[in-house]
This record gives sequence, structure tokens and C-alpha cells, in this order.
Amino acid sequence: MATGSHVTGAQLIANSLYDLGVRVVFGIVGIPVIEVADACIAKGIRFVSFRNEQSASYAATAYGYLTGKPGVCLVVGGPGVLHAIAGIGNATHNCFPLLLLAGSSESHQVYKGAFQEIDQVSTLSPMTKFAARPPSLSLLPATLEKAYRTAYFGRPGATYIDLPADYIQGTVDSSEIAPLVEASSAPRFTADNATIKKAAALIKSATSPLVVIGKGAAYSQSEAAIRELIKSTSLPFLPTPMGKGVVPDSSSSNFAAARSAVLKDADVILLLGGRLNWILHYGEAPKFRENVKIIQVDIASEEIGNNNANNIEYGLVGDIDLTIRHLLVELKGYRFSSIPQALIASRDKNTAAGIKKADNAVLPMTYQHSYKIIKEAIAETNTKPIFISEGANTMDTARSAFDVEEPRRRMDAGTMATMGVGIGYAIAAAVARPDCLPVCIEGDSAFGFSAMELETATRSNIPLAIFVMNNNGVYHGVDPEAYNLQSKQPLPSTALGFETRYDLISEAVGGIGLVARTPQELKEAAVKALTCGKVAVVNVFIDPGAKTKLEFGWLASTKKKPQKA
Ligand code: ADP
Ligand code: MG
Repeated sequence: MATGSHVTGAQLIANSLYDLGVRVVFGIVGIPVIEVADACIAKGIRFVSFRNEQSASYAATAYGYLTGKPGVCLVVGGPGVLHAIAGIGNATHNCFPLLLLAGSSESHQVYKGAFQEIDQVSTLSPMTKFAARPPSLSLLPATLEKAYRTAYFGRPGATYIDLPADYIQGTVDSSEIAPLVEASSAPRFTADNATIKKAAALIKSATSPLVVIGKGAAYSQSEAAIRELIKSTSLPFLPTPMGKGVVPDSSSSNFAAARSAVLKDADVILLLGGRLNWILHYGEAPKFRENVKIIQVDIASEEIGNNNANNIEYGLVGDIDLTIRHLLVELKGYRFSSIPQALIASRDKNTAAGIKKADNAVLPMTYQHSYKIIKEAIAETNTKPIFISEGANTMDTARSAFDVEEPRRRMDAGTMATMGVGIGYAIAAAVARPDCLPVCIEGDSAFGFSAMELETATRSNIPLAIFVMNNNGVYHGVDPEAYNLQSKQPLPSTALGFETRYDLISEAVGGIGLVARTPQELKEAAVKALTCGKVAVVNVFIDPGAKTKLEFGWLASTKKKPQKA
């Protein structure tokens, strides 16, 4: 920052963000933040302008996950903040770093019912790691720096800075303000050596050890250490949905295809950056052995023993990368070579069943056969995909169908099972990873939450390949013969419009729209979507599954078996 010169508040905010290293901001402008966004653009920061704050805030969280530095989201006050609370929740629950900036009414106009006034700091304080209105314009950079740092130091999460209109429009002598320096990486620390030694001894003594790789492992960018661990020890591993790719899915140590069997079989589990929440069945029997011993590695000490504390043998509090490197020293020379034949057989059986399903070319098409065709098109076009998947049945079936070979190349509805993140995530992925193509596998319901963001993507020259798995409903559609708009019969709550032309939404905003009802049509459409360099929506008409009983597949594993009377 030049000394002795006057800058506006908007310029000061843009300069501060730039100095911290921020090069992209997601958001939507309006009074009073237009000047802030324009100052950012003038400074060379990319401003990705969305159509709804919800998607913008989701995008910023995904950017945070993919880069390891906070995604920054800029919105107006009042309703803008209320919409962006979706992103605050998403960041908090998924442990993604997010800095939300919002305009607010002038600092002297408080509690008077000013334009779009709500008390944003009070509203967001309980939901964030830090929420503040800078005490003055000249203290704005320092407060911004604290919020930025707090979002990604320690366990990542959300922070908030309030930007009153009079700050944005005010001016300040920049020589009064200490310049900010580029934010460093988060400080890393490791669990203590004595506990690591004991944990290593426990792993060596295990008859059925298992490594569970969570999305904290992906976020922490510790793939080199974890790959080394799996390679040198041959320990079997199981990725969580977003832990896929930390070690390639194609690894022979990957037992994802025998998920239930390995979880149930394991006597010692090394849990890397994953919480024992619903995704991991709380670490409890009957999904886990009653007396399983868990070594939990997490950056947040308060996470250790959250659920099933009795089975947490050791809590290794520290950065995964550093902690695994120490563990590797203790495990030197150890190799696990006695994977039970039953587990291998279970994996082979499930893999074969998956292939059989994928090969089943019936009409209307199934999820699995559609995925097979999309995968073939990805391979033939040499696409480097970053998968984004949401929707209930769509996400559930796609998770195992698409192999992920690199870390942070698959995002989904995450810890809160949030539908509507998809297009925001895809836009963020394209910005964070321009070397990859976002390939979205969307349920028709999930797609509907943020379909207007296709316009954001086309306007921003962001290519996206979006496959809408259209079964005319939430979970499944209704029988087309029974579906009659003129009917006085109310539709079930799960019904969506029959054969809605989502592809035309893409065309309307300058993208490409394609319809696929048959394997041949899908193949052609997929190749086009993957190679056109634009936003492309392939509307894949699949079996509405109208006769399927509503089954919550992804929760099925937590269902208790019915007891006999
Ligand atoms: P999953 O949904 O894949 O099970 P979770 O989101 O439940 O994953 O858990 C991720 C965990 O990773 C969180 O508890 C978080 O504190 C932890 N974490 C994040 N970054 C790091 C890091 N650098 N080192 C260790 N743990 C981390
Ligand atoms: Mg559907």
C-alpha cells in the first residue's frame, strides 16, 4: 500500500484481501457492497458474481476445501446474510474455511430499522469462530486479517466481518495503517511421541487393522504421507465419501467395495480426519465390533472421544501429515500381510455385482448403466474430472460407481447431507482447479436448488459438464401413466414434473442442452458435454423407479434390524 495516500474503505478492503493473498471472491453485490466488489476487480481479484447468496457461500466453502485457504464470500446485509448462513452452516459442519463479508447499514443507524438492517454480528457470533464489526475503518485491515486467519488456523470453519456502509464509502490515510502480509500456511503440530509409539504398537498387534480416511485427510493435503503409509504397511483402507482419492481408489488395499465387512471385522482402526458421526455409524456396534480399538487422528482435541469414547484407545491430536510421518517411523519394517480371505471374497463379490448392474442395458436406463457410459466418455475424451455429486439416490449410487484417483477430486452433499451445493461447488472447483473439468452427477431434485447458477457459470466462462439424472422425483418419480396434470388427485410429495427439460435451462442461459434416453444418445451427449468447453446439461431420462418402495439407501446402514416379538 502506498503511504500518505487516501484510499476509500472499499479500496482498503480490496487491498487488504489482496495483501492476504486472496485472488477470488464469490458473492452478489447490492448496496452497499458494489464498491467493494468493483475495488476487488480493479485490484485484480476475480469476482464471481452469483444469482443467490446461498450458492455463492457454498462455492466459497468448496474453494476453501480445495485450496486450504479460506474461500471469501461478499454479500449484502439483511437478506443477503440470511441466505449466506447456508454457507456458514456448511463451512462449520464440514470443517471448511470460509470468510463471509457483508455490507451493513451505516454505523450510526443501528437498531432503527435501517435498509436491510439486522444485527449481523450478534446473529452470526454463535455460528462462527469469529464475527466482528471492525471498531474503525483504520482497524478494518487488522480485523480482516484476524478473521481470515481464524477461519483456517486450527479446525477450519467460518468467520464473519461486518462492513458498514459508511466504512465502505469513507476514506482513510493509508499511511496510518500497518500493511498486511500474505497469509502463511496454518501452523502444523504433531501428536506427542509417546502416544504415537503406543498407537504404532497397537497397530502392530492388531489381527484385523483398518485405516479409515476422511475428508479431513483430503483437506489437510496429507496424501503423500498417507499413500506412503498404505504402501509401506499394506494396511487395508476405507475412504469416506470425500476421503476418496487420498489413496487412489484403484489401490489393491482399498476395501471400499467391502465396506460393511471391513468395518465389522476390524479390531484396530486408524481414523484419519473423519468424525464418528452418521457417516461412520457413530463408531458403534453392530456396524463396528463391540470391542474395536480406535486410534483417532484429528486436529481438534475436542473431537477425540466424541461418540463411542470407550472405544477410543488413543487420540492423536495433530496435523495428519506430520502425525503420520511420525507414525511411519514407528511402523518401520512392519507389514500387514494377513487380510482375511473372507474380506477379499466379499470385495470381489460386491465388485462383480456392481459390474453386472452397470452392464444391464435396459430401457429406461438405470443409474448404474448411465454411469458406465459417462465413465467411458470421460476415459475416451481424456477428461480430468473433478466429481460433484448430490441427490439422494443419485449420490448414493454414483459414489461407488466413479473411481477417484486423486485427492480433493470428489465433493458431495457432505456432513449435513446438503442438497443444493452442487452448482456452487462446481463453479468453485472450476476456479480452484482450472486444470480439471467439473463433472456433476446431479439428481433432478438436487439440481433444482441452484439451477439458475448455470447463468453464473456461462457468464463467467466456466465450463461444466452436468448430468441430471432425471427420474421425475425426489428419491423416485411417479408412474408416468398415473401422472396427469389435470387430475384432481394430489401428487405424492416426492413427485417432480414429468420429464422436465432441464437441458433447456442451459440453452436459455447460453450453454448447451442435451437429452439422453438411450445408451447411444447418452454416449454422444456425454462426449459433447465433456469436450464443448461450455456449460452443458445432459438431461438423462432414467427409470422413474415409480414401483420402487421408498428406501433411504444411504441411511440403511444405521437402521436397526426389526426385533422379533
Ligand atoms: P468425513 O465426513 O470424511 O468422515 P469429517 O468432516 O467428519 O470427515 O471429519 C473431518 C475431520 O478432519 C474433522 O474432525 C477435522 O477437525 C479434521 N481435520 C481437518 N483438518 C485436519 C488436519 N490438518 N489434521 C488433522 N485433522 C484435520
Ligand atoms: Mg430424482
